[in-house]
Amino acid sequence: MFTQPLICPNPKCLATGDFYTKNGYFKTKHNHQPNPRYECRRCGMEFSSHSLRANKGQSRPDVNQEIFKWACSGVPISRIAENVGVTQKTVASKLAWLAKQAERFHEKAIVSGELNTSYIQIDEMETYEHTRLKPLSISIAVRVKTGQIIDMKVATMNCHGPLAALSQKKYGLRKDTRKEANGSVIETVRRVVNTGSGLTVGCDSKSSYPGLIKNVIQGASIQTHLVVKESYEDTVKPTDPLFAINLICAKLRSDLAPLARKTWVTTKSPEKLRQLLSIYIAWNNGYDICSNTNLVDTPVKSKKPKSLKNPQGSM
Ligand SMILES: [Zn+2]
Repeated sequence: MFTQPLICPNPKCLATGDFYTKNGYFKTKHNHQPNPRYECRRCGMEFSSHSLRANKGQSRPDVNQEIFKWACSGVPISRIAENVGVTQKTVASKLAWLAKQAERFHEKAIVSGELNTSYIQIDEMETYEHTRLKPLSISIAVRVKTGQIIDMKVATMNCHGPLAALSQKKYGLRKDTRKEANGSVIETVRRVVNTGSGLTVGCDSKSSYPGLIKNVIQGASIQTHLVVKESYEDTVKPTDPLFAINLICAKLRSDLAPLARKTWVTTKSPEKLRQLLSIYIAWNNGYDICSNTNLVDTPVKSKKPKSLKNPQGSM
C-alpha cells in the first residue's frame, strides 16, 4: 500500500492535487521493497514516497523504534548496538536523528496547546561530563497534572565540595551557564501557561528559580517546599509536595545510563546529553516519533501519559 503524494517536495514548487506522473520504482536497501517514483509535472523534480519523510536517505529506518526504546531503558550505547545488531556509529547517528525528531514533536505539542497547564514543578539535578571534576546541571520543568516534561536544559558549572580545588587545578574555572539554562526552561514554561488561570510553580527552598520566574511570568505564584528526608522509622511516610518533579528525576537516573548514580557510563559531552534528554522528553510525553515521519501535515498525537497514581508514597 502506497499513500499518494499530496504535495511536491520541492520547497520552491509545492504543487498539490494532480501534479505528478509515475516514473518507475526503486527498492529500499533495508527490506528490498519496491517503492514508486514520481515526477512533478510543474517543476520536473523526481521524488518518491520517501522524499517527504523525516527518515529519508536512512539505510536502516527499521531500527529507529528499537533504538528509541533502548536509549530510554538505562542501557549504554555499546549495549544498544549489541542488542539491535548495528554498529555504535549507527547508534550515535540514530540518536542525533531521534533527538531532532523529538524536538520537532515537542515544539508541535507546545504550539498546539496540549501541554498547557497552570501548575508546574521545577528543579535542577546534577551529573557530570566524563569525570566528576567536570559537573553539569540539568534544569527541569514538569507539568504536575500529567507528569509530562515541559523542558530540560543542560548547563556547565564549577565543581563544589571536596573536589573543587582539584577540579580547578586540572581544568581551570568552568563557565557557569546555569542561569541561562534556567532562564531558557522558564521561557518554555511561559509558552504553556493557561491563559486566564495563572501559574503556580513548586520548587524546593534552595532553588534559585523564584526571582527568575517573577521576571518572566507576571503574577506567577511560587510555592517553595523544604526538602523532606524520609526516615526508616517513619510509620506514616511523609507526603512529598514535590512528588511530580522528584519522580521525573528518579526516572531519569534509572532510564538514562549516563545519569545513574554509580555508573561506568559517562556523558561524553553536554551536546550528547542534550540529545539524550530531548529523546527522553519524547519518550516520557508519549510522542510517536518513529512511525510518524511525514514532514508534511503531521498532527501531534501523543499517547495519554500515565497519570501520577501515587502522589503520597515512595517510588
Ligand atoms: Zn514540483
